[in-house]
Amino acid sequence: MDEQLISSILLLLVFSMIWLVKRWLVMIKRKRRRVYYRNVYLKSEDWQRKRFVVLKRDNWRCVYSNARATEVHHKKYAKRNIGKEPINWLVSVCRTCHDSLHQ
Ligand SMILES: [Zn+2]
Repeated sequence: MDEQLISSILLLLVFSMIWLVKRWLVMIKRKRRRVYYRNVYLKSEDWQRKRFVVLKRDNWRCVYSNARATEVHHKKYAKRNIGKEPINWLVSVCRTCHDSLHQ
């Protein structure tokens, strides 16, 4: 094998390693965010207030089936700032629709 080939392979290896480490870091961050979201944000007064505003706006009706809404669904998440999602990303839903949305 000539030297150039070897150094190309090495370079490729280094880049793949960097890529893998980056992916891994992204996964860790995502997981941490999810834990924070579930354990902190969903229990906060801020979320309770927002949830109430959304349910009231939608008249306590599920936007998909018109059944009585008991939950609030995120159509989108604010990736970097959890809890900073605009109110129009949130919709009132009933249990059944919410479950099927998250399948
Ligand atoms: Zn529904």
